[in-house]
Amino acid sequence: MLIYGYALSVMPPPALQVRQSSKGIEIRANQKNDWEIGFVMKKVVKFGGSSLASSEQFRKVGDIIHADEDRRYVVPSAPGKRFGGDVKVTDMLYDCYHQVQGGARYDKTLKNIQARYQEIIDGLELDLSLENEFQIIEKRFTEEAGEDYAASRGEYLNGIVMANYLGIPFVDAAEVICFDEEGSFDPIATDKKLGARLRDEERAVIPGFYGARPDGSIQTFSRGGSDITGSLVAKAVHADLYENWTDVSGFLMADPHVIKDPVPISTITYREMRELSYMGASVLHEDAVFPLRREGIPINVRNTNIPDDPGTMIVEGTCNKPKYTITGIGGKKGFVSVTIEKAMMNAEVGFGRRVLQVFEDAGLTFEHIPSGIDTFSVFVNQHEFEPKEQQIIAGLHRAVRPDLIELESDLALIAVVGRGMKRMRGTAGRIFSALAHSHVNVKMIDQGSSELNIIIGVEKRDFETAIKAIYRIFVDAQI
Ligand code: ASP
Repeated sequence: MLIYGYALSVMPPPALQVRQSSKGIEIRANQKNDWEIGFVMKKVVKFGGSSLASSEQFRKVGDIIHADEDRRYVVPSAPGKRFGGDVKVTDMLYDCYHQVQGGARYDKTLKNIQARYQEIIDGLELDLSLENEFQIIEKRFTEEAGEDYAASRGEYLNGIVMANYLGIPFVDAAEVICFDEEGSFDPIATDKKLGARLRDEERAVIPGFYGARPDGSIQTFSRGGSDITGSLVAKAVHADLYENWTDVSGFLMADPHVIKDPVPISTITYREMRELSYMGASVLHEDAVFPLRREGIPINVRNTNIPDDPGTMIVEGTCNKPKYTITGIGGKKGFVSVTIEKAMMNAEVGFGRRVLQVFEDAGLTFEHIPSGIDTFSVFVNQHEFEPKEQQIIAGLHRAVRPDLIELESDLALIAVVGRGMKRMRGTAGRIFSALAHSHVNVKMIDQGSSELNIIIGVEKRDFETAIKAIYRIFVDAQI
C-alpha cells in the first residue's frame, strides 16, 4: 500500500517534482538529479524458526511477503521444528560444533543439517547450491571459529535461501549488527551502520540472531534473538510497522495450558507486555521491545499458519479501550519468601538497605519486597536461592540481628496486568473475592506503583485454581 498523503492531496511546491515509478512515489528537488522514494510505507517482517522449518512453510512466508509490497525488509530465523520431537537447526549446529571440537564423528550431523536446507531449496525449486558455504562452515568449525559462529550459520544460510527465493539482496548481519570488543551489543554503532547500509536497499533480507565484534568474530544474541534483529532493523529504517510472524496468533489473555481457549489480546502496550512476558507469556524475546519503545514503531505479532488472524498489536500508548478491565494474567512458579522479623524494625535507619545488601552480595536479584511494621519479606527465585540459602541466613543475622527469619518455599506469583485498571474501582476487591470463593489463600499482595499490575503470591498448588478464578471473574463474566 502506498500512502499518497501529501503528494497527491495538495499541489507539490514548484521546487519539488513528484512521479510514480515501480518503486512507489518518488520525489526530487528541482536542482538535484536524484529521485528519492517518498511516501512509501515500510514494514519489517521477521519470521520465526517454525515459520521457516520446511519448503512448505517457506511458501506460506513467500505468499505473506508478496501479499503486501510494504513488506520490504525480511529477517529470517534458522529452520525450526517441523513437528513435535524434531530438532531445530540451531541445536544441530551447536551439536555439530561440539562434535568437531571433541574429536567425535560429526559427518552425520553435518549431513542432516545440509539435508534440511536441501529440502527447502528443492521444494522451492531454486537454482541455488550451498555446497561451497558448507565447505567453508566445516573448515571454520575445525579452526575453532567459536560456538556463536556455529549457531549463527542457521540464520545465515536461511537468509541466503530466502534472498534467493524472493529475488532481493542479502545483507549479512555480520556487516551491520555490532558488538564491542567485550561482546556487549553496541546499539549506537548498529543503528548507524544498519541505517546507512539499508538506505539504498529498497528491499533486503537480513538474517537474525547474530552480528560481529570489531575484529569480525561472530557473536549471537541469546536464544530467540532474531526478534531483536527485527526490532533493530525496524528502528534503523524508521519502519512504520514491525511484523513478527510466528506460530501463534499473538498474545493470549492467559496461558492456554491453564485456561482453555483464552481470548486473544488485540492491543497491548509495551509496558503491559513486559509485565506479562516477565511472568511467563513468552511470544517475543524480551529484549526485542527496548529498541522500539521510544520510537513509536508498533509490533504486530502474527501467525504464519493463519495469516488472516489480526494477531496482537504492541504499541507504546493507545486510547483504544480494552474490552475487559484486565489485559492479561501471567504467572510463574518457583519462588521463596525470606521473611525477617524484628521488633521496632521501622525505627532502624538503613534496615532495608542492609537486608538487600545481603542478597546483592550473594548475587541474587529479588522479585518483590512486601513489608510490614516489624517484618520485611524478600521474594526470590527458588532455584537461584537454594544453593545460597545458608550464606544468606548467616548474612542476615550479621547484618540486621533479626528476631526471626522464616523461609517459605514453593510459592507462585500471579500478575494481573491491565492499563484499564487505573480508572476502575474495585478491581482488587474483585480479584480477592474471586480467590476467596475458590479457597485460595493469598500469601502476598503487591500493586505496582503504576497501577498497571497487581501481583499476588500463592502456594504453588493453588496456582492454576487462582488463575482460573481471576479469568472467570473478569473475562467469562465480561467485566
Ligand atoms: N535460531 C535461534 C534460536 O533457535 C534464534 C531465533 O530463532 O530467534 O534460538
